Amino acid sequence: MAAVFLPAPLSDLLPIHLLDLAAEHAAYQTELDAAWRDTVQQAAFIQGPAVGKFAAELGAHLGGAHVVPCANGTDALTLALLSLALPPGTEVIVPAFTYVATLEAAALLGLRPVLVDVLPDTFNIDPAAVRAALTPRTGAVVAVHLFGQCADLEVLTNICQAAGVALMEDNAQALGAIFTFASGRTAYAGTVGEVGTTSFFPSKNLGCLGDGGALLTRDAARASLLQQLANHGQSQKYYHQRIGLNSRLDTLQAALLRVKLRHLPAVQAARQAVAARYDAALHGAAGLQIPARDPRSSHVFHQYTLTVKGGDRRDALQAHLQAHGIPSAIYYPLPVQQQPAYAYLGYQMGGFPVAERLCKQVLSLPVHPGLTAEQVEFIAAAVKAF
Ligand SMILES: *Cc1c(COP(=O)(O)O)cnc(C)c1O
Repeated sequence: MAAVFLPAPLSDLLPIHLLDLAAEHAAYQTELDAAWRDTVQQAAFIQGPAVGKFAAELGAHLGGAHVVPCANGTDALTLALLSLALPPGTEVIVPAFTYVATLEAAALLGLRPVLVDVLPDTFNIDPAAVRAALTPRTGAVVAVHLFGQCADLEVLTNICQAAGVALMEDNAQALGAIFTFASGRTAYAGTVGEVGTTSFFPSKNLGCLGDGGALLTRDAARASLLQQLANHGQSQKYYHQRIGLNSRLDTLQAALLRVKLRHLPAVQAARQAVAARYDAALHGAAGLQIPARDPRSSHVFHQYTLTVKGGDRRDALQAHLQAHGIPSAIYYPLPVQQQPAYAYLGYQMGGFPVAERLCKQVLSLPVHPGLTAEQVEFIAAAVKAF
């Protein structure tokens, strides 16, 4: 373990946070304060005017998609699946390397999550594995745009259209990423398939100050169906067309999100600048792989995730960084096949070698707008000194 060259006194570099929402919010504290105050004064806490305004503004930001706010990203997945009206037992193909919510929503609805492996470079669902997993019982494929970069929306769209199954996008991590199709057409992540979902969990790229989520669709009829499903299956109060959920975005969160959406482009650019600095410093470093960039997708860097090769070197690198005051995180440490809750699916270890290997090798570095250039250089130097 070599000593780390310090570009500045350590007192200027530390502390380093994995995420620093307090600092991010402090930059526009007066706008957030005004949003709180107005919401308290207007006292329309459920379905107040800010909810519709935020939905319209986010829709415009995403190239004109319909946005249906809801209570969180997991509910968004549940509502998206409900809107597809799949019979119980229908198979829903999901990547084996994702946050558990992607499967959980399907499992809770009595649908059958079917795992497929991911690609080793982008960490996203492997379209060839999707094709191989299709059966007459398949009803939907869920593309998760992991860590901020789009899955292969071109091939997945083709596969789903040919098979007559719905393409869903779990876009909790890549809001604002843009995919370019071979035709030259571009589209925002989450707006390509039948229905997309996102999360405003505080640590997401567009996070609220609590729980929140939304559904994305280009189809006006599906948007009104989703709106109804998110509000007890009613379009008119006390008249219930469907069995739905109580899953609404609080007016307060919508008001705060309107502020945060205005700052998202700057925050996004800052994340990308941090990632570019890591890329330059760590490119070609022995024993590790920097995040692969798919030339067809922009990358919004929800996470900056290294792949650390060999044995238990990932855990040793994490300890080495911690010893230098540098936090890091592992998304995700335990394969789905080893999660007790999903044992009933009957998957064995060895079935998804890439996902299983990634669980042992991935390490996410701090990537947020509050990091200074010196801190990023310090983190990169500490990684290289390992
Ligand atoms: C965060 C996340 C979710 C769930 O969002 P919540 O708002 O926490 O319910 C779902 N899928 C992925 C990929 C996520 O990262």
